[in-house]
Amino acid sequence: MFQNNSNLAESLHTASGETPVIPAPRSSPLPPLQDTFGRTFDYVRIAVTDRCNLRCTYCMPEEGVEFRHRDEMLTAEETLRIISVLAKVGVKKVRFTGGEPTIRKDIVNLVAGAAATPGIKGVHLTTNGLLLHRYAKDLLDAGLTGINVSLDSMDTDRFMRITRRPGVDTVLNNIKLALDTGFQRVKVNAVFMQGFNEDELERFTEYTKDHAVTVRFIEFMPFDAEQIWSTGDHFTSAETIVARIKARYPDIGPAPGTRTEHHTFKVPGYAGKIAVIPAFTRSLCGNCSRIRVTADGSIRNCLYSDDEYNLRQVMRQGGSDDDMIALFRKAFADKAIDGYEAKKRSDAKVDITQLHRGSMTQIGG
Ligand code: SAM
Ligand code: SF4
Repeated sequence: MFQNNSNLAESLHTASGETPVIPAPRSSPLPPLQDTFGRTFDYVRIAVTDRCNLRCTYCMPEEGVEFRHRDEMLTAEETLRIISVLAKVGVKKVRFTGGEPTIRKDIVNLVAGAAATPGIKGVHLTTNGLLLHRYAKDLLDAGLTGINVSLDSMDTDRFMRITRRPGVDTVLNNIKLALDTGFQRVKVNAVFMQGFNEDELERFTEYTKDHAVTVRFIEFMPFDAEQIWSTGDHFTSAETIVARIKARYPDIGPAPGTRTEHHTFKVPGYAGKIAVIPAFTRSLCGNCSRIRVTADGSIRNCLYSDDEYNLRQVMRQGGSDDDMIALFRKAFADKAIDGYEAKKRSDAKVDITQLHRGSMTQIGG
């Protein structure tokens, strides 16, 4: 197991924010990144910061979490190197997430660099939407394929209660701005929480009447830095959410969705779609194609596994692209069959040196 190690030779650290030269691809393709169960991993989610301008109660405490030191964060050059290395083993899709990716001033450069990487077919962003007006047009021009905006309530007071900050109107305006700017794939992510927003199911569904977005209800997960998961019954299963949607909209029909959007529907005549994501019940593990890289440069092979593989260390100690690929292959050779098994294995490890990240902002959502 590769442990996190902060005593590294950090001499390669630069933060110019400029797009580096992308190395040319090799002539013969390398074998894809696969696990022992035959799954192929062609989609990387990279957290580009662990910091955020909101404090969602299901994610981060008011005081924040233990943020990594600046020197421990991947630079733009390192992030783009990881993408170009992954492209060599067949990765086609990149998502920048966090923390809040739009607080990185070089987010447009990151998107441009990823989009220009040979082999990368789609570059996506998950954002809370608060700062989107600053970058929407530049992000589209830079090659961003799609935007997921997180919004858990359309009600002013409730938004404030959930995120501990004002801003619902800005987020709603920025979703519209994303559509008006010309983004073809705009999704709205709402974490579905009993006692918080379960009564907005209809409001969100009605939003798809005139807005060509996919509203995705996401199961609440226990990555809330030990805030509200343990305090009561806030979890609702994807199955129950689907049943409630069908009860309210008996005419709703299935619609095509992505690999994670197993339950996707469209109300007849509405512009957008509704999807439900079983993020906690983990019924889609068999289709998993995701690689995660944390903001401080560790590979994670599953959201529910605490195992980490220190890619930053490999890079900063002068590792070659092949060394990086070898670490990715090791991480995915170790991958458990599903999230339940991954969690069981992590819980069984009594290893105090193991880094535990209890918030989505640390893992990279
Ligand atoms: N700040 C950006 C945002 O909010 O979209 C990107 C990072 S955020 C960690 C990524 C996604 O994780 C968001 O859609 C957020 O709602 C989701 N998330 C965070 N904590 C969660 C939890 N405990 N359960 C389910 N989803 C969670
Ligand atoms: Fe920030 Fe996103 Fe976490 Fe909310 S969910 S605190 S916006 S990182």
